[in-house]
Amino acid sequence: MRAMVLNTAMLPLELERRSIPQPGPGELRLRVLACAVCRTDLHIVDGELPLPVLPIVPGHEIVGVVEALGAGVEGHRAGDRVGVPWLGHSCGCCAFCIEGHENLCDAPRFTGYHRDGGFASHVIAEAAFCMPLTLPETDAARIAPLLCAGLIGWRSLKAAGEGAHRLGLYGFGAAAHLVAQVATAQGREVYAFTRPGDHEAQAFARGLGARWAGGSDECAPEPLDAAIIFAPAGQLVPAALRAVRKGGRVVCGGIHMSDIPAFPYRWLWEERSVSSVANLTRADACEFLDFAQAHPLQVHVRTYPLRQANEALDDVRAGRIEGAAVLLP
Ligand SMILES: [Zn+2]
Ligand SMILES: [Zn+2]
Repeated sequence: MRAMVLNTAMLPLELERRSIPQPGPGELRLRVLACAVCRTDLHIVDGELPLPVLPIVPGHEIVGVVEALGAGVEGHRAGDRVGVPWLGHSCGCCAFCIEGHENLCDAPRFTGYHRDGGFASHVIAEAAFCMPLTLPETDAARIAPLLCAGLIGWRSLKAAGEGAHRLGLYGFGAAAHLVAQVATAQGREVYAFTRPGDHEAQAFARGLGARWAGGSDECAPEPLDAAIIFAPAGQLVPAALRAVRKGGRVVCGGIHMSDIPAFPYRWLWEERSVSSVANLTRADACEFLDFAQAHPLQVHVRTYPLRQANEALDDVRAGRIEGAAVLLP
């Protein structure tokens, strides 16, 4: 098999040939059809997150075909198409897991972080965390971004609340381009904030249903009910607080962000709140994939051959992509 491996943080991934692994008990071996590139992969490669395992194969938005089943696997068959998200394992017995918050598990294993991920031709995944894919879309490249950009976007949208009719999205990358469509389909109004001067991204947002699009240095034309921040820029937190109405919510959707600058308490006052979204649960995945089944989303992708993973990461880092970057083995 082939894999793009992170051996040292802040250095490029290296192409390696390895022998094809055998699935252990409860695991599946998948032939990877496509794996999208997430901003979290950038934070891993750039050493902005602690790295518990090196070398590691990144990639946690995997669409694959079941090739081999480990002992005791039920509910999957060879040839099935499945998706592998970021949550690759939860313990099932900590207080968070027991209360249905497996996204906050005390002993999780994340795909492409604790265990090798999908920047590869093959991957081993825990069967219980592989999501069956029965979407009308058949192009694996257009399904892969749903598995993190879509899922985290969905969880962030739930955190924004059902009352968030006027919704701001800060950072219009892979996640926002999907959330904008979900929110619009739910009858909400989307206000998209991009890097100042990024008129292409603003036109892209309008084309996906945003009622308004502008730079993150601009004021929203209406007070917002909630805002979701996908860009990893801490200065957007006070900016978003100033854009939401009394009682408005600001949800940070990313795993890493630069420091949030100090701001006057009155920007938070009047029951505005700031929260973060961490990881996902399998229930989120089922809900979102059901939604995507009923409301087909336009998934914009730029595909790269697996060996060009470093170029794909560079393009995500520079914001050069409309939608999501996807690696094809
Ligand atoms: Zn991700
Ligand atoms: Zn747990």
